[in-house]
Amino acid sequence: MAYDKELAAAIKAASLAARLCRKVQKALLQSDVRSKHGRNKSPVTVADYGSQALVSFVLQQEFPGEFSLVAEEDSNDLRKDGGGEIVERITKLVNESLTSDGSYGVSLSSEDILKAIDSGKSEGGSQGRHWVLDPIDGTKGFVKGDQYAVALALLDRGNVVLGVLACPNLPLTSISFAHPHSPNNEVGCLFFAEVGRGTYMQPLDGSSTVKVQVSAVENPEEASFFESYEAAHSMHDLSSLIAQKLGVKAAPIRMDSQVKYGALSRGDGAIYLRFPRNGYREKIWDHAAGSIVVTEAGGVVTDAAGKQLDFSKGKYLDLDTGIIVSNQKLMPLLFDAVRASLAQKSKPQP
Ligand code: AMP
Ligand code: MG
Repeated sequence: MAYDKELAAAIKAASLAARLCRKVQKALLQSDVRSKHGRNKSPVTVADYGSQALVSFVLQQEFPGEFSLVAEEDSNDLRKDGGGEIVERITKLVNESLTSDGSYGVSLSSEDILKAIDSGKSEGGSQGRHWVLDPIDGTKGFVKGDQYAVALALLDRGNVVLGVLACPNLPLTSISFAHPHSPNNEVGCLFFAEVGRGTYMQPLDGSSTVKVQVSAVENPEEASFFESYEAAHSMHDLSSLIAQKLGVKAAPIRMDSQVKYGALSRGDGAIYLRFPRNGYREKIWDHAAGSIVVTEAGGVVTDAAGKQLDFSKGKYLDLDTGIIVSNQKLMPLLFDAVRASLAQKSKPQP
């Protein structure tokens, strides 16, 4: 089954949202707000909600009628006392983005914005179609001026059938040649994948498109691996043990957000390890787009027990321990190293 119209709409929505986020991040980095008050949450809040409102609006314009969106944000905080000023800023930003695009010829009111944000309240599931959105994945990266992504996917009867990852700070050339934490003045990248049709990358301005493939590395000694920048999101000591057992020589590439899936899909690194601490439940919007971008580029994404990720259970993924990603050749070796490392870690220390 083809999802061409859905894919085109998803690319349009994610590109517009990414441009909105870029604009806010640029202003944030140029302002002295952060240095005076530490981490100011307001710019990221405006970009987060603005991105969600924009994606939700564009998708509803393109697919009027039945619409379901599972997304990270809701408008509860914005509707509280004192939220008015932020809602005005979001409304202005979203309207500027829509005007610059020119497709819809509308100006949205604050209430329209709140409604668009709240269309993201669906729970997903195994029936019908559901859009899945993380309006800014990697908010920590966004605030620091590092990597973040707008991640949008479509579920059809519980399966991810398309995914778009807009990565405004990812260079078009391999991340291995650039410092992963130095945003550049390039246009940024967008990855898109449709089930059975492969993964493609284009500059965020859409000027050209190339098909991408995961790394063909077979020898773990030549492989490099990605993990979260934040140690709170993934246990760095465990991934280091796994890498050591595998014989990986390179130091980990630490980055925020699903940009890791995008970079891996084009072979910048061959492995992605994610091991949250006990009790953390992964949300579908943190992996839906990223996982199809990797699998359609020839990669494998499983939990630590080797099972495919199941996106049909609602907002959360039911997983065994962690998520591991690699190419087909390396996966059996990686899987063995993961099992051995988990067993070693769970043994009582003498
Ligand atoms: P990353 O940038 O890859 O580290 O992952 C970012 C995502 O991790 C965010 O979008 C959050 O939804 C998610 N996250 C938040 N808290 C945790 C946690 N304690 N462990 C794992 N992931 C988390
Ligand atoms: Mg996220």
